Amino acid sequence: MRDLALLPKAHLHLHFTGSMRVATLADLAAEHRLRLPDALLDANPLQVPADERGWFRFQRLYDAARACVRSEADMRRIVDEAAQDDAAEGSGRLEIQVDPTSYAPFVGGITPAIEIVLDAARLATARTGVDVGVIVAASRMRHPLEARTLARLAARHAGDGPGEVVGFGLSNDERRGETSEFAPAFAIARRAGLASVPHGGELLGPAHVEDVVQHLRPDRLGHGVRSAEDPRVLERVVEEQIALEVCPASNVSLGVYASASDVPLRELVQAGARVALGADDPLLFRSRLAAQYEIARAAHGFTDDELADLARASIRASRASESVRSRLLAGVDAWLAAPDAAEVATAG
Ligand SMILES: [Zn+2]
Repeated sequence: MRDLALLPKAHLHLHFTGSMRVATLADLAAEHRLRLPDALLDANPLQVPADERGWFRFQRLYDAARACVRSEADMRRIVDEAAQDDAAEGSGRLEIQVDPTSYAPFVGGITPAIEIVLDAARLATARTGVDVGVIVAASRMRHPLEARTLARLAARHAGDGPGEVVGFGLSNDERRGETSEFAPAFAIARRAGLASVPHGGELLGPAHVEDVVQHLRPDRLGHGVRSAEDPRVLERVVEEQIALEVCPASNVSLGVYASASDVPLRELVQAGARVALGADDPLLFRSRLAAQYEIARAAHGFTDDELADLARASIRASRASESVRSRLLAGVDAWLAAPDAAEVATAG
């Protein structure tokens, strides 16, 4: 068994606030004299039922964490630490997802908010060697016209280099908002060459996946795991080569599946879906990127060859430049070619 923290991979599903280290959140709360709910600081991952009350609890904690991010320095620190943590786990490409709306009041508006994140991503790339791109995400809870404003802003910064916007997302409770009403925002993003990367098929089943596929024409789906519940929908996802950003620890924490082995990872891969593992919100789920590959190994019996294929799929589904992608793919080959330490020890 090779070290999964050394396996080169791309991290395509990580939220800005949710990426925060617990210690950093504690620092920010102290600095801004805010009291945090105990659940945010204790050692246990969040565990809620997959109903509206469960989501409400998740959202309440998430909002409490987000309320601690109140300055340009806070925002820069989060991006930098996310890149550092990704670097330590073998990620060579991070596409961090941010909805700048909540931070805008503290830094003089939505435009500076996004500029800060992009600049921090550029600096973090230089400092850590992880190529950091940004996904601008709108929220289902807000007016679809706000999503259009965000899409126009995202479009202005489109590119595949470090600190550029690579995609446009849609997040928050799938049960809220009308998916079709967000189509114009996604059309603006698509015209600018941005990837369409909305959430879908996590809390709601295959019908929601179809809804999102039809109206938002995703290149990648945030989660999309529940496509597995309808062979026809899964076939469409595979045919249209929509990558699925599968986040097993998140699914278990949010009660979508009872345990990691219930996440239909094998089914999706076997059906031919492109799967990129992601951590989603490590702040709440207490599980970072390499741990998702550990789950594939421990709970689903993925061999090193299969884990390398998962890493390759994540790199290919990323919007990194061609040169970054070929460098990372060569790294995956090298990881696999290196002798397996466990086997060497047995042979010796
Ligand atoms: Zn997410």
